[in-house]
Amino acid sequence: GRKFFVGGNWKCNGTNEEVKKIISTLNAGDVPSQDVVEVVVSPPFVFLPLTKGSLRSDFHVAAQNCWIKKGGAYTGEISAEMLVNLDIPWVILGHSERRLILGESNEFVGDKVAYALSQGLKVIACVGETLEQRESGSTLEVVAAQTKAIADRVSDWTNVVVAYEPVWAIGTGKVATPAQAQEVHAELRKWLHANISPEVAASTRIIYGGSVNGANCKELAAQADVDGFLVGGASLKPEFIDIIKSAE
Ligand code: 13P
Repeated sequence: GRKFFVGGNWKCNGTNEEVKKIISTLNAGDVPSQDVVEVVVSPPFVFLPLTKGSLRSDFHVAAQNCWIKKGGAYTGEISAEMLVNLDIPWVILGHSERRLILGESNEFVGDKVAYALSQGLKVIACVGETLEQRESGSTLEVVAAQTKAIADRVSDWTNVVVAYEPVWAIGTGKVATPAQAQEVHAELRKWLHANISPEVAASTRIIYGGSVNGANCKELAAQADVDGFLVGGASLKPEFIDIIKSAE
């Protein structure tokens, strides 16, 4: 079985005080055991040591990005080696905000995923179509091309979680219906089956992101190919605990 996975992407939010508050709320939360659900929260880089140092030990931390190769003269970047050095186990790569606002291409994201994995990080690799792409009927083509750029560079998928995040659902309150999410997740799994292997298709977690909240998570979690969530806005609130509970 694929263990349910709930990620909290804090994006570029939070003060030192707010982060401490979020962590204490998470630490007090009554959630299923690690055998049932894997929980990973992703603060901005500057709050990684604080979060890592004060978060309960059954929750893990992720960076929201890292550099594409070995560190060096790359002003403003954070390398995979640095994350490993600080014992940060996970990194989110290819988020649509980086693809669309920072101009990261499929190939660039693929190279980042491969490098981060080579350094021992686990990767939440994000894919997803824009509204325009969905309306023109190219959703599957778009997510397949994003996934292929990763598959072309990665052979071992053990440490990869794929996050399907339709751009039109991110931060909009317009969540994908359970049927819409299930359709793309099933197609993505079929793609992994045909292009990588039946084993990778069966074992890789495909999680959904885009306006997930405490009220809509249960129905989404019940879909056969939805293996968890990547949560933005609601991960900053106490209802993140309710989303974690949807694992059961
Ligand atoms: P929201 O949950 O705020 O829509 O954000 C989703 C997301 O982008 C998580 O990475």
